[in-house]
Amino acid sequence: MKYFIKTFGCQMNVSDSERIAGFLEARGLKPAKDITKSDFVIFNTCGVRQTAEDRVYGLVHNLVTHSPVKSLRDNGAGVERGTKKPAIIVTGCLANRKDVQRKLKDKVDLFCEIRDVESIMYYVSSMQNKKIHNTSYIIHATSELGCNYLNISPKYTNTRTAYIPIMTGCNNFCSYCVVPYARGREVSRSAEDIIAEIDNLTEKKYKEVILLGQNVNSYNHNIKNSEIENLKLIENCKLKIENYNTALFNFPVLLEILANSYPKINFKFLTSHPKDFSNELINIIAKNRNINREIHLPVQAGSDKILKAMNRPYTQRKYLALIEKIKKKIPDASFTTDVIVGFPGETEKDFQETVKVFEKVKYNEAYINKYSPRPGTAAFSLGDSISWDEKKRREKVLRETVTPRQKQTVR
Ligand code: SF4
Repeated sequence: MKYFIKTFGCQMNVSDSERIAGFLEARGLKPAKDITKSDFVIFNTCGVRQTAEDRVYGLVHNLVTHSPVKSLRDNGAGVERGTKKPAIIVTGCLANRKDVQRKLKDKVDLFCEIRDVESIMYYVSSMQNKKIHNTSYIIHATSELGCNYLNISPKYTNTRTAYIPIMTGCNNFCSYCVVPYARGREVSRSAEDIIAEIDNLTEKKYKEVILLGQNVNSYNHNIKNSEIENLKLIENCKLKIENYNTALFNFPVLLEILANSYPKINFKFLTSHPKDFSNELINIIAKNRNINREIHLPVQAGSDKILKAMNRPYTQRKYLALIEKIKKKIPDASFTTDVIVGFPGETEKDFQETVKVFEKVKYNEAYINKYSPRPGTAAFSLGDSISWDEKKRREKVLRETVTPRQKQTVR
């Protein structure tokens, strides 16, 4: 059987799709060259913006409407799908949303959480044995894997740079964000598993590792003695690990061990929350040349009033002070950011505070998001008071505020 994965959204979703592909191929499934040649399509979805959500609806609709065989036939033992229309599986951020399930229930065969990738295999096996009827399945973390899905051997899509997820979920509940609902609370992957995966990459001559997490710098893993012993057995880690007298691997400790153990690999990390960017972390970046100097530090807004409404626990002054502290310790540091324009209640004066931050920091790159209310989030009840045209204008102003050497990415 052949599968096709369509991925939406951030690097974490790209990494998750690599793990789904690895899981399926380890069980004998093959990738299809394009969507129409597949037996089943997995939509790994993103719910961060309405536009990403609408694209999923459009693609699912097209697939159902334009597939060569879309009829269902009753074989007497139940309704069986036509042979040519691929089955549709929805996972990722939208899979859990009741309104999405209701909207797509006649078109989608299976909704499953990303950590429940085993359900996909169960579903596919049932398809092969023709046990599946035309009802939509909604499966919630019934598998043994749970959050350990991060340990599935991925099918890396790049031969030089690898995404390595080190944690998933988020405890911060920024008022506009679906991640804590879609992915649940923070779970850190064990240091042993992370190091074993990177060790394997060095044999394949990878040059760059991007450590991933929704809130990567809040990584926190209590290490067991047995794990310490296992880490000492990894040749590259042996000596480095003995320098640490700690049962708690936080992000700076993990990063330092990785940077020391794998000097030929360049390390990057995404995404950091300003509140968790500690002095310890700054010192470790400063000390290790193989940790990238371009730091992604989402500001989201420049106005203290809007930051408060977003439930971002810092002020503009604190954010800029952090940037200055990093620059002082790491003189060649540069910055990229995420920002939202048109959050409910953002006046021109508030917006100008964001412009001020952009002028001061001089970002290398900025992901400028036009605010889009997300059902289920705290900010949803605030409505959407800023017009789309005004959001577009603000986005343009931010783009033009930066110096020409800076690149702006609009998404
Ligand atoms: S820190 Fe905020 S924006 Fe980032 S994933 Fe968590 S809730 Fe979302």
